[in-house]
Order: sequence, then C-alpha cells, then structure tokens
Amino acid sequence: MNIKQLALKYPELFVDCFDFSVGLGWLPIVDTLCSMIRRNNEQHPNRKPVVFHQIKEKFGNLRIYTNIVINEVDEWIKFAENLSYNVCEYCGKYSDVCLTGWIKNYCTYCAELSGKPFQKKDE
Ligand SMILES: [Zn+2]
Repeated sequence: MNIKQLALKYPELFVDCFDFSVGLGWLPIVDTLCSMIRRNNEQHPNRKPVVFHQIKEKFGNLRIYTNIVINEVDEWIKFAENLSYNVCEYCGKYSDVCLTGWIKNYCTYCAELSGKPFQKKDE
C-alpha cells in the first residue's frame, strides 16, 4: 500500500489534508489510526467529524494534525506518534538506529542502504 491508496481507503478523513508525506514503513500505523478515527466519527454522528490536516515526519517522528481535538482521539494520535519512534520509516521494521544529523528513525539495514552516516540509538 502506498500513500495514495491509503488516502483513497479513507476519503472522508483526507478531504482537508494538505500534506501527507511519510515513509511507507509508517503506513500500517496510520492505517490503523484511520480505521479507529473512522469508527469514532461514525459513533458520534452529531459531532463534527475529525479529519486530518497534515501527516508528516518531524524530528524523526510521525506528526499528525487534525481539524479538532477530541481527547480520546488525541490519545490515539499521541500513541501513533510515539510508536513511530521505534519503527523504521522506510520499511516498518524495528528502528534501532537514526541517521546522524538527519534525525530519521531507520533500521540498520535501511540506514546502510541510504549510504548516509548513522548511529545506534542507545549511544
Ligand atoms: Zn528499515
């Protein structure tokens, strides 16, 4: 699945999204979050639906911005953002390294493929 296919799977959540730009490795996280938000919107038909404004990478982590803040949904978003720290943005495997100076969370394999300098997270 790519970004376009994911957005098409939940068209009502992306009507006002002006930026959806993350690596493929994080799409399963976003996909799960989308299905939870869709269900939450359906369960609250009298409330304004939550939709995305922006989904991007910032300082190595997933960052998600929505039109309104609903406490329950906001907790899920925070969980997704925190989870992304441990997931390679490129391939979705466990992220044990970050690219030096780039603050990108990658696994060792993808970091080596990138050709850029990287370091273990524990150091
Ligand atoms: Zn990887």
